[in-house]
Amino acid sequence: MSFMAREIEAMKEAGLYGTIRTLDSPQGAWVSIEGRNVLNLCSNNYLGLCNHPRLAEKVKDDVDVWGVGPGAVRTIAGTLRPHVELERRLASFKGAEAAILVQSGFCANLAVIPTLVPGEEDLIYSDALNHASIIDACRLSKARVIRYEHSDMDDLRRKLEETRGARGRKLLITDGVFSMDGDIARLPEIVRLCRDFDVMTAVDDAHGEGVLGRGGRGIVDHFDLHGQVDVEIGTLSKAFGVMGGVAAGSATLVDYLRHKARPNLFSSALTLPDVAANLAALDILEEDDRLVRRLWQNGNRLKGELKELGFDTGRSETPITPLIIGEAADAKRFSAELFEAGLFATAIAFPTVPRGTARIRAMISAAHSDDDLRFAVETFAAVGRRLGIIR
Ligand SMILES: *Cc1c(COP(=O)(O)O)cnc(C)c1O
Repeated sequence: MSFMAREIEAMKEAGLYGTIRTLDSPQGAWVSIEGRNVLNLCSNNYLGLCNHPRLAEKVKDDVDVWGVGPGAVRTIAGTLRPHVELERRLASFKGAEAAILVQSGFCANLAVIPTLVPGEEDLIYSDALNHASIIDACRLSKARVIRYEHSDMDDLRRKLEETRGARGRKLLITDGVFSMDGDIARLPEIVRLCRDFDVMTAVDDAHGEGVLGRGGRGIVDHFDLHGQVDVEIGTLSKAFGVMGGVAAGSATLVDYLRHKARPNLFSSALTLPDVAANLAALDILEEDDRLVRRLWQNGNRLKGELKELGFDTGRSETPITPLIIGEAADAKRFSAELFEAGLFATAIAFPTVPRGTARIRAMISAAHSDDDLRFAVETFAAVGRRLGIIR
């Protein structure tokens, strides 16, 4: 067992060992850590729904009716009405024929990828910056994985051409919004290329769900590609503020996944409180787009002002605001000093992002006020100048 202590020590020496903070309050614009209130720029709680009273109320009501646990896997113990209802509502929200719910976004990739392209003759085209859950899902398949350069349509076309005659099934999988940079996949071009080369398309819209498209209906809605993307994978742990994963598409696709996908066959369904909270989140999203609009206003303002100060915010097109620093140790130091100044923004380094591109990722939400934004910008400016990151 000694290898573990050795590796942990090596991580600490390389500045790659991060402390995991304990929160003594719910997720929100401000959180209580180590006895202090700090401005929270770390969570994916885009719309501030993690601690929304309507979600909490709905959970309390539904637990009285339905209890807590699902009992066993759905294919054996049957499926509870609220799960079926949430699937129907999610499909309708996204404008898809049907949807299947799984335990998390991570599980949704495990449910889709090895199920659609399991075999040695199959091919998976995967963006170089795809999320770790996509990479792991690809590893669960025997298919050959063909990585194309990030959002590089020429490279993708070249690789599609090289493999045109291959015999197996083919699937392209891409993040919708790339979580560490905030740029959006070039989905219209991808769909066009995949149609030409007879390749199935799947998009993991974890950071687009509740963020992109009309009222947060996601990346397919954003590009008006309804019916043209074979699988929309999503997570309910980010903008929805709860937990859960979803795959949406044709009724046949969903039927197939229900009977073939191993996370559905061998792992129990979401708990009833998760389902109840997600139903309440959907109610809020479907009522109006106020929260989504507020999120974008806040995101655009934060990103604009930080860029003006001289920070390198990369290629973000969404509320995700990276501040690219470079070395992991420098990003960690920046984060530590920000925390001292009352701002909680974790440093992100290898292996989550490529070496040499360590960063702070500022995640603003609809729950942040104008005063919060002002405080964030002032704090980034003061600490950034002190550490020589900006002038
Ligand atoms: C966050 C994320 C996931 C994981 O979602 P969970 O619901 O937290 O498991 C999967 N894919 C992408 C692209 C993500 O950003």
